[in-house]
Amino acid sequence: MQAHEGMYIDGAWRPAAGDDRIDVLNPADGTVAGSVPAGGPEDVDAAVRAARAAFPGWAATPPVERAARLGALRDVLVARQEEIARTVTTELGSPVSFSRAVHAAVPVAVAGSYIDLAAEHPFEERLGTSRVLHEPVGVVGAITPWNYPLHQIVAKVAPALAAGCTVVLKPAENTPLVARLFAEAVHEAGLPAGVVNLVTGLGPVAGQALAEHEGVDLVSFTGSTAVGRRIGALAGGAVKRVALELGGKSANVVLPGADLARAVKAGVANVMANSGQTCSAWTRMLVHAGDYEEAVERAAAATARYAPGDPLDDATRLGPVVSAAQRERVTGYIAEGQREGARLVTGGTEPPEGFEQGSWVRPTVFADVTPEMTLAQEEIFGPVLSILRYEDTEDALRIANGTDYGLSGAVWAGDEGEAVAFARRMETGQVDINGGRFNPLAPFGGYKRSGVGRELGPHGLTEYLQTKSLQF
Ligand code: NAP
Ligand code: MG
Repeated sequence: MQAHEGMYIDGAWRPAAGDDRIDVLNPADGTVAGSVPAGGPEDVDAAVRAARAAFPGWAATPPVERAARLGALRDVLVARQEEIARTVTTELGSPVSFSRAVHAAVPVAVAGSYIDLAAEHPFEERLGTSRVLHEPVGVVGAITPWNYPLHQIVAKVAPALAAGCTVVLKPAENTPLVARLFAEAVHEAGLPAGVVNLVTGLGPVAGQALAEHEGVDLVSFTGSTAVGRRIGALAGGAVKRVALELGGKSANVVLPGADLARAVKAGVANVMANSGQTCSAWTRMLVHAGDYEEAVERAAAATARYAPGDPLDDATRLGPVVSAAQRERVTGYIAEGQREGARLVTGGTEPPEGFEQGSWVRPTVFADVTPEMTLAQEEIFGPVLSILRYEDTEDALRIANGTDYGLSGAVWAGDEGEAVAFARRMETGQVDINGGRFNPLAPFGGYKRSGVGRELGPHGLTEYLQTKSLQF
């Protein structure tokens, strides 16, 4: 167990103003893995001042030089990938093979994408008699969750830096250790002092102080809809820019004629990965009545392959959920699903045998889930798949669009054109067609209550710009 000191402010590790601390627990066994200072408004204020002071210089740095610094940052993230993977596994509980392939590797790809985007972005354009300038918004307050802890940091910091903004980061209380690693990487990469600052702390204390600070020009938040609503209201009241990346209840629509075996296997993998703690997870599988029982059987068989195991073992495919509180939340939803009459195919509320210590949840599949059930409406954020039955394509579309959320989704069909036609009618921000792969340049973000704004690629960069027109 390592007790870390200080916050990364103005290019150095500085003592926190107060003595409060956060213990970081390893959810695999409940042991204390480390501790960090819990910052408050004074620390946030120091960080915002540093970011403000650094802003004019960074904004005036030529984009190619900003790109070069992003390149240096990417290189440090590459060099430290194994350390990043093990740190995320320790504080989040994800299997180390997944931590390597996703938690450590995706931030490298995203940081890498902004090297080119920073260098090539048209920061000026001509429109008739006007010259239009796309200028950095200013100081960004970034508030991130624990589920993809480094990805969510890089998905905000990299485009902000590419745009010429400076940043104060408040990471989730459950996963501050990888955030500290990120701040070390920023330092090693030689970013000027104050361009990126880190304040670890609790959401209602440090997070709230950051969202409210009048020196912050844009708040970028990823997390729960409940907190996102509050931050949106705060930002609206202060006439401050805001980006919200919230929850999801995404539909995986398997149309008749699709490769059922492939669709179900990919659908189960999508939900069980990261113990179901993925905002874009396809937690509702929609299957035609004619294929329904076969799909349920296949889903049960695919889920059996997600046996819980030591997250540090290379072969493990399912780790714990992030915390005891998350376990309570997820098992509460499983109990609610049983009360509401859904058919429990596999899994349940008891911890898996031999995994009574720590925060473990059995991989769980429900069948006969109907669209109004809590299981089909609320974000569970655990390894829980709901399989719904539809009668025809219009019914499938109505069910797919029948939640407040609209973050992601999937469509499988024998004919790609048919899948694309269905996807066009879905009220959601991203759809993977017949197993389409993750693209770090594709805009990511929500329709409806899933959020405001887009992350990643050129769309993610423009979130951090504001527009000025010169007429002459
Ligand atoms: P959360 O409370 O929304 O946390 C997200 C971030 O916001 C964390 O850094 C958090 O700090 C901070 N925060 C909390 N209250 C705040 C406030 N009043 N002002 C400013 N910042 C604040 O989410 P959570 O508690 O970790 O998870 C709860 C549920 O949210 C999950 O079960 C899941 O359903 C959903 N969730 C969704 C996503 C997503 O990617 N869409 C990610 C995570 C969670 P603390 O860490 O100290 O709370
Ligand atoms: Mg919270």
